[in-house]
Amino acid sequence: MPRPIIAHIDQNALEHNLQIARRATSARIMAVIKANGYGHGLLRSAQALSAAEGFALLDIRDAISLREAGYRQTILLLEGFFDAADLKYIAEYDLACVIHSQWQIELLDAYPKRAALDVWLKVNSGMHRLGFPPLQVWMAMEALRSHRAVREITLMTHFANADDEHGVSFQLDAYNRIAAQYRLPRSLANSAALLRYPASHGDWVRPGIMLYGASPFADVSAEQLGLKPVMTLKSRVIAIQQLDAGDEVGYGGKYRADRTMRIGVVACGYADGYPRHAKNGTPVLVDGKKTQLLGRVSMDMLCVDLSALHEAGIGSTVTLWGEGMPIEEVARAAETISYELMCALTLRVSVSEGEP
Ligand SMILES: *Cc1c(COP(=O)(O)O)cnc(C)c1O
Repeated sequence: MPRPIIAHIDQNALEHNLQIARRATSARIMAVIKANGYGHGLLRSAQALSAAEGFALLDIRDAISLREAGYRQTILLLEGFFDAADLKYIAEYDLACVIHSQWQIELLDAYPKRAALDVWLKVNSGMHRLGFPPLQVWMAMEALRSHRAVREITLMTHFANADDEHGVSFQLDAYNRIAAQYRLPRSLANSAALLRYPASHGDWVRPGIMLYGASPFADVSAEQLGLKPVMTLKSRVIAIQQLDAGDEVGYGGKYRADRTMRIGVVACGYADGYPRHAKNGTPVLVDGKKTQLLGRVSMDMLCVDLSALHEAGIGSTVTLWGEGMPIEEVARAAETISYELMCALTLRVSVSEGEP
């Protein structure tokens, strides 16, 4: 029998969350399925999200496998191409690609054939990661507008603060000043902007995290947004220990009992993707009841407090995150974000499809 840890991926929840996005906008939806569908599986995610008008990801091999699986919608490479060899595949598989830097335009100029590529010209409207600074956009636009390899141009940008109190107005203004000069399709919004800033929707929205059922906001829960968790990570208690006052738990003795306690050892560790930096007190469900992590997470195991859960014992079901245990709460206790936890799920965790 394999170790009892399992990630349930609820495809109905993915479809449901896509509907939530759909209700919030009239723009076309580019479902972001980068990083193996935020850890949920590339083709599994694409299948459940197949009503989306487009898919966005990074790896050209993933884009090709989507085409080969029969998906006909727009497939956007969020970092575009990395070298001249990519261009041949982009043309052959009809992939759309972000153009964010001058060197990419030069590669396009050197491309020997005519082509009909859809390019998404990326504007750096204030995040200072990818994209042409506002004053250089017109030059890039001049180069692309009449380019023999280019069919359609979409003008895109990305927000740095759509999820926090700084908001998008600064970047939105910078972007709108540029976009006003052209009649081109527009794309700006990630999940947070889709949910909070209708003025940023443009022609294509690009939700990621909300589709997987997590909130992009620190101050609003997924449940309040009507989102359902897609990934539920579960395991079981495989050993019980009784502690006396003063006993310590796990590597480094990071938890010390101040009374007699009963703890459960759970088959889940950082090699499964559970965050090693989760603190004492990180919430965990055992047989559906809330309790807490004790001591340092090790590679293959972690410990939970069963002192108040008298029915719990060997074989009890443990929910690390997902249904009933919001992943955002676990992320907060590990000083990270839900995105990182989802993406960090490792290959050794078996996946089951369907509801948890
Ligand atoms: C990842 C990504 C998104 C999706 O962001 P979420 O916060 O997950 O909704 C949208 N656009 C770009 C360019 C991205 O890289």
